[in-house]
Amino acid sequence: MLGTYDYPTSHRVFEFVSVGAFLGFAGVLTWQVALEVSERVSLPIGVLVVMLIVAAYAVADLASGIVHFLLDNFGSPETPVIGQKFVKPFRDHHVDPMAMTQGDFIAVNADNVFVCLPVIIPAFFFLDAAHHPYSGVFIVGLVAGVIMTNQLHKWAHMPAVPRLVAAAQSKGIVLSKQHHSVHHSGEYDRNYCITWGRLDSLLNRLVALRER
Ligand SMILES: [Zn+2]
Ligand SMILES: [Zn+2]
Repeated sequence: MLGTYDYPTSHRVFEFVSVGAFLGFAGVLTWQVALEVSERVSLPIGVLVVMLIVAAYAVADLASGIVHFLLDNFGSPETPVIGQKFVKPFRDHHVDPMAMTQGDFIAVNADNVFVCLPVIIPAFFFLDAAHHPYSGVFIVGLVAGVIMTNQLHKWAHMPAVPRLVAAAQSKGIVLSKQHHSVHHSGEYDRNYCITWGRLDSLLNRLVALRER
């Protein structure tokens, strides 16, 4: 029932609870926002919604890069609280990049789902979709980008991916293998963004300033 996994059952149950809670809150919020937007639909509104989704995707990409940069460069697996849970997986990933491709969707993505709960639960209770539908579009786009980050990173390491994913990778719509391979080919000191990769053009410059 819980699928195949190689870590404690309590952790696996926690992952399913996180994913279930997220699907409940995010599903209802997305439905409310979609209804509100559909009542206002026009070409300018359509353009606005697309721009908000792209902006949210870009923020998720930049956030993935900043978190990755921090966890690659500061602390160690022995750091209290965050060491084992957050620093260690990134350091282990440099040693064995393919290990993350072994886990199923829950194992790979549940941590990011959990991170999004403090965003989606307050949004569910306090965001008035009727009055702020575009804030809703941005929040839903943002958590969708964050949740897909580890999956997109995993696909960038897999030799074979679904055809649609391969097309999105080759068109630069999601993180491509070539772009991410730069991170793994050197000192792990550039191309930290692991959702889209486009925001590395900004983050690489900021990281280079630190090296001067
Ligand atoms: Zn990687
Ligand atoms: Zn790294």
